[in-house]
Amino acid sequence: MAAPKVAVLGAGVIGLSTALCIVETFPSCSVAVFSDQFSPNTTSDVAAGILIPHTYPGTLIHVQKQWFKETFTYLFAISNSAEASEAGVHLISGWQVFKDPPKEEFPFWSDVVLGFRLMSKAELQKFPQHQFGQAFTTLKCDCAPYLLWLEKRLKANGVQMFTRKVADLWELQGEYNLVVNCVGIGAHQLVGDEKLFPVRGQVLKVDAPWVKNFIRDGDGSTYIYPGIHRVTLGGTREKGNWSLSPDPGTTKDIFDRCCSLEPSLHGAQDVIVRVGLRPSRDCVRLQREVLSRGGVKLSVVHNYGHGAGGFSVHRGTAKEAARLVGDCIAALQGSSRAKL
Ligand code: FAD
Repeated sequence: MAAPKVAVLGAGVIGLSTALCIVETFPSCSVAVFSDQFSPNTTSDVAAGILIPHTYPGTLIHVQKQWFKETFTYLFAISNSAEASEAGVHLISGWQVFKDPPKEEFPFWSDVVLGFRLMSKAELQKFPQHQFGQAFTTLKCDCAPYLLWLEKRLKANGVQMFTRKVADLWELQGEYNLVVNCVGIGAHQLVGDEKLFPVRGQVLKVDAPWVKNFIRDGDGSTYIYPGIHRVTLGGTREKGNWSLSPDPGTTKDIFDRCCSLEPSLHGAQDVIVRVGLRPSRDCVRLQREVLSRGGVKLSVVHNYGHGAGGFSVHRGTAKEAARLVGDCIAALQGSSRAKL
């Protein structure tokens, strides 16, 4: 079999990082990315990009922890390199605060982030409505620069990018040996996945350069995540809502909630409002599948459904998807040898 040809669908953080893992693991593969949208028009561009895991109820905790750890280690190395500024990856310290103490004072990821500890009474004085808190240092991607950095690395590795909406995975059969499906919420339509649903999120990106620490309400409803250039204020979690239009009432509500956590935000300038649909599922669909039609087979690897935590686990799930791609290539090579 000649060098395997792999088509990766989707150019959000999952598609681009999966394509990169594939070319890094199998340099002899010819890889192309197909997507109807690229940065800055993906859900991944809307995200805050902070590494705080979201829990997937249908995935074993040790697996989620492994994905998070691999992602943290990968981005930590970037944050310590000369690439950090271009990639938009940086360390950030801050607080997660709770009105009532959470069930788990030390979450499963507490020994992956840096310097995790419970907040002192003196620190909690900054948050008079909260009675419990966790302080730690984690990583944050500034999403658009990080996506562009991934694209640049892909091009440097010979990966071609095509702007194209794929309506059926079979469109790519014949020209490609294998299709990797990373289309996020687009998988609802592309592969008819009824288990996948949107969780709408509206955020504000503001200019407030004096805000240096992240603040997250432990229930995930309100957060302040400073990036290199702008601060992301959030948010909303609207299950089943497909609307991409910003809602002015929600904008005011988010701003008020964030100001009650960090009153200096009253001085924030230049508010940009963005909306994204988290591709949510009980568990990430990270799976190999062989489709069959009229005696013809098509090998597919799925990697979508990262919900509210795609940035937090992207490298870990990309590595697992690349491993599944390796299994498909081995099976395809085995079947082409058997035909000889
Ligand atoms: P997307 O970014 O949506 O990419 C999917 C790609 O597939 C796009 O390029 C799209 O154009 C393409 N596509 C779709 N259908 C087709 C088709 N039929 N043919 C061709 N191409 C197609 N996660 C964190 O870890 N930390 C955070 O701080 C964080 N904050 C968030 C804040 C908000 C408001 C939102 C909405 C999400 C947040 N997330 C966060 C979650 C994170 O954004 C997602 O988990 C992640 O972006 C999913 O990436 P993706 O590549 O699967 O999807």
